[in-house]
Formats: sequence, C-alpha cells, structure tokens
Amino acid sequence: MSEHLDAFANAIRTFGSESSIHAVPVRRPEEITGLDALAIPGGESTTISRLIDKNRLYKPLVEFEGGIFATCAGMVLMANKVDDPRVHTLGLMDFSVRRNAFGRQRESFEADVEITGLDRPFHAFFIRAPVADRAGPDVCITARIDEGIVALEQGRHMALSFHPELGSDPRLHIRFLKNCGLV
Ligand code: GLN
Repeated sequence: MSEHLDAFANAIRTFGSESSIHAVPVRRPEEITGLDALAIPGGESTTISRLIDKNRLYKPLVEFEGGIFATCAGMVLMANKVDDPRVHTLGLMDFSVRRNAFGRQRESFEADVEITGLDRPFHAFFIRAPVADRAGPDVCITARIDEGIVALEQGRHMALSFHPELGSDPRLHIRFLKNCGLV
C-alpha cells in the first residue's frame, strides 16, 4: 500500500505544488466515502478477497463510483471471471483472469512493455502475475505480451498485471488520474 501512496504522491508532484489532490490509505468501509478514486494493490488475491469480505468492504467497493487503479492481485479482484473459486471478485470490469499465469519458471521478471498511448515502452515488474485471456467489448486492451493481456482499461478503471508502483515511472499513475478527471 505504501508504494502506491508514494507513487501517487510522485505523480501528483508532476502537476506542481498547487495541485489539491492527495492520496490516503483506506482500510475501513467508511473511509471510502468522499474519495474520487481508489487503488487496489498487489498481494495475495485470495487473502485480499477474504479481508474485503471480513471488513465489509465488498459492497462499498462494488458501489464505488470513482475510478479504481488495480495492480496484480488488484487486477484479479477487478475481473468478472477468475480461475480460482476462493477469490470473490468485484466483477467491476468485463474480463477473465488467470492467477499466477507465468508458472514457477518465470514467477518474477521484468520486461519493457508497449502500452497503447505511451510514447515509449514501460519498464514493468511482474511478480507471480495474472494475465487476462478474454475481455468484453467495453474493455480497452492496452498491453499484451506473449502469455496474454497485461493491461486493460474500462471507463475510469485501470487493471495492470504488473507493478507500476515499484519503479519510478509515473506515467500510468498520471494517466489514471487524468482518466478520472482529477488533473
Ligand atoms: N499471485 C498473486 C495472486 O494472484 C498476485 C501477486 C501480486 O500481487 N504480486 O493473488
């Protein structure tokens, strides 16, 4: 979570000191009220799913009207179909996802990924990453690698199978803030 807070702070700084937006941590349902956008970080999607249910966050998340920036396990949660019944996905985006899609040989790796709308490749960190293998007509696929789809957008939501918060490249965080109309 702190990596996303730092990455958003870094992205917001590029808009100058007069920018009024700021990032805050969210753990409880009542903390969602009034926010314009949310990030769902990586981790273990089975665990995050269990914590969402336990902390009564499922309904507030599904009903949230702002954009959601979802990375890795977060991407798994955004899908409307997943290959693991232990994950109760939010189903906010129309795609099917496969957890841990790269197998043991290639659990973690880095790659320069071409992303639609970015002028040069994005250096992406994949850590036991998922891939999407089907996306509906309302979803814009913004990046694919050999194993499948690794970046998607639907409305204001963005789902990425890698971790943009781990590098120092703010372009995807900035694009998300722009898609949400916040900058
Ligand atoms: N493999 C994890 C999952 O499917 C995601 C890993 C990550 O978020 N880095 O839950």
